[in-house]
Amino acid sequence: MDSSKSRGALQDSTSENNNNNNDGDEEKDELCPGFQDVDAFVKYGLGAVLSATKASGALPQVGDEYDFYRSFPGFQEFCQSQGDQLLHCMSQIMQYHGCRSLMRDRNKLTGLEERFDLVVDSNDAILERAGILLDEADGVNRSQQPVMPAGFQPPKIVVSSWNRKSSGSGSRAETFRLLHAKNIARPQLKFREKVDNSNTPFIPKIFIKPNAVKPLPSYFTSKQICKERPEDLDVPAALADFIHQQRTQKPVEDMFAHPYQYELDHLTTPESLLSKPEPQMYKPIAETNCSFIDSLEDLVALNEKLCSLSEFAVDLEHHSYRSFLGLTSLMQISTREEDFIIDTLELRSEMYILNEAFTDPSIVKVFHGADSDIEWLQRDFGLYVVNLFDTHQASRALNLARHSLDHLLKHFCTVDSDKRYQLADWRIRPLPDEMVQYARTDTHYLLYIYDCVKTQLLETNHGQPGLLQSVWNKSKDISLKKYVKPIFTEESYLELQRKQKRSLNTQQHTAFRLLFAWRNKLARQEDESTGYVLPTHMMIKISEELPREPQGIIACCNPVPPLVRQQINELHSLVQQAREMPLLKAEIAAQKTKGLTPIKKPEVTLFGPHDTSRVSESDLPHFSPDELPVKQGVLFSEDEHKMDVDDEKKSGLLAQAKITLFQEPETKNDQESLSVAHMKARRIIEAFENPFRMVRNNQ
Ligand code: AMP
Ligand code: MN
Ligand code: ZN
Repeated sequence: MDSSKSRGALQDSTSENNNNNNDGDEEKDELCPGFQDVDAFVKYGLGAVLSATKASGALPQVGDEYDFYRSFPGFQEFCQSQGDQLLHCMSQIMQYHGCRSLMRDRNKLTGLEERFDLVVDSNDAILERAGILLDEADGVNRSQQPVMPAGFQPPKIVVSSWNRKSSGSGSRAETFRLLHAKNIARPQLKFREKVDNSNTPFIPKIFIKPNAVKPLPSYFTSKQICKERPEDLDVPAALADFIHQQRTQKPVEDMFAHPYQYELDHLTTPESLLSKPEPQMYKPIAETNCSFIDSLEDLVALNEKLCSLSEFAVDLEHHSYRSFLGLTSLMQISTREEDFIIDTLELRSEMYILNEAFTDPSIVKVFHGADSDIEWLQRDFGLYVVNLFDTHQASRALNLARHSLDHLLKHFCTVDSDKRYQLADWRIRPLPDEMVQYARTDTHYLLYIYDCVKTQLLETNHGQPGLLQSVWNKSKDISLKKYVKPIFTEESYLELQRKQKRSLNTQQHTAFRLLFAWRNKLARQEDESTGYVLPTHMMIKISEELPREPQGIIACCNPVPPLVRQQINELHSLVQQAREMPLLKAEIAAQKTKGLTPIKKPEVTLFGPHDTSRVSESDLPHFSPDELPVKQGVLFSEDEHKMDVDDEKKSGLLAQAKITLFQEPETKNDQESLSVAHMKARRIIEAFENPFRMVRNNQ
């Protein structure tokens, strides 16, 4: 199948494409050369894909078999030329879709794994696109309009085109899929200071302490500055003084303390902040300037601006899937006059300069639900907040119906916001306008809400400041929170295991423990989340099933995480290690009476096509013990026929989409469970249709 050609043709379907063979007359009416309509094209394409899939399934197996074939020059040449063609074709497709496409670059040290990742990424991108186009065809995006400023339509729609709540029947897919882009370059690669995923406690990043009443312990000033910051660094004048702050104080014992503990402990709320404010209406978004800050220069200017104010609002957006500790990806700041969006991935190493405004006790920093923000600020930038007001705490104190920001926006600003972007991939750059609009909504109205809740807190308390004071106090407690790095211990797995409410036997328990340690280690090493390395539900499934073969481990995962595929041998040896654990007597008895899986039925509904854990004993085929090893017994006792009707329905699509060696119905989706002997037998039969077998015969 020459997809590059058909692609080109599809692209210029309106203009002529005469250089492509075929009868020129018909072409005008054709969708693309040689095809009358979409159906014909799809039919042809599907046939081509099927036969390619079948042929690839019949290729000699990696390892001895392949090496043996490769010893024949004819085979080698054939593979080389076919391989080149395929890689070329794939590269072209990937390029067309704007993906990285170094498939043919054999000299680069990209390696198979990297190339495999490329393919996975490209597949994701292509499927994503297909999904979007299907939605469009379905009418989901039909009425999409440019983002409208708030204030124009009642009720105000803040992120208008994204706010359509499921209207009509065609909206099943909505637009969630747009929220994660999968081909994002890892921002970590650009970080000046490497992320510290080591299994050691977090040490504050701070090395300059603006607004200090008590100076920073010398540990931070001397060591950090000498090592990492040249003295002549271009920092704002006001901060330059702090570089020379005392360096000869007592070290170590203060190393893990909150750098602003003393200042916060001695912070008192001034009278002015406990009295009734004059609510100042927010400016309409349309009339508000919004600056995107991604240079040091602009950041310094912003800091200076903030230092001259008496209050500003702050929010952060965060990414956690493709990073071990998480990445603060965006900071939004709103003053009464302006909105600012800071690219914190770009300015990660410079963000600390905002400490001058953030720790100034005379400037109120308004956050909504700051618990995580406070930790992220410390972890990524060494930023601290002195004089925090948390509107979430205010909402609680007021006993409002709900305490989310959406609710406050609706309640006080009659703004309909949409938290759909909350879980967007905030690493995306350039940031789509819709996401910028969403982000600024999180802070734009916050100072007005601050006025409103303060007023109400005083009113509900008959003008007495007690309730308002309690919110200031709660907010202070939040700003005193310290970031704690997740520390791995030999017991860490127990907590997660307890949550599963399942009983695992000794072997399964061991597997769970080993897999847990493996994924934690790999996640730190690769700077990925543990969920990306191996999602918990897959880890449980592998632990429960204890697959004998690497293929069985793969079968427990759908989709298969890239690192699982890469490290399948390591995983396999861990599972084997677990299998070698002696079972307790009771466990052996339980296995005998219960069949193969002495496990409670799980509550989760995420099932792969190979999931057997929900099958009742009566559904299992019965074999006498001596029938079990080898032959068909092993083949079918492991996986086959064990799906119940529901599972079969759920996994139907997935099962069909799987590439299998043999298309015969009885092997359905489970070629993984074929015994070695059985595979061999099958291959001999297959050899009759296998072109590569012919090559050997001809030699
Ligand atoms: P917000 O303060 O609502 O803007 O949320 C800040 C960040 O917290 C988001 O960028 C997400 O990374 C994360 N977050 C917020 N809500 C959720 C949620 N329900 N589940 C997971 N992460 C969330
Ligand atoms: Mn927030
Ligand atoms: Zn936010």
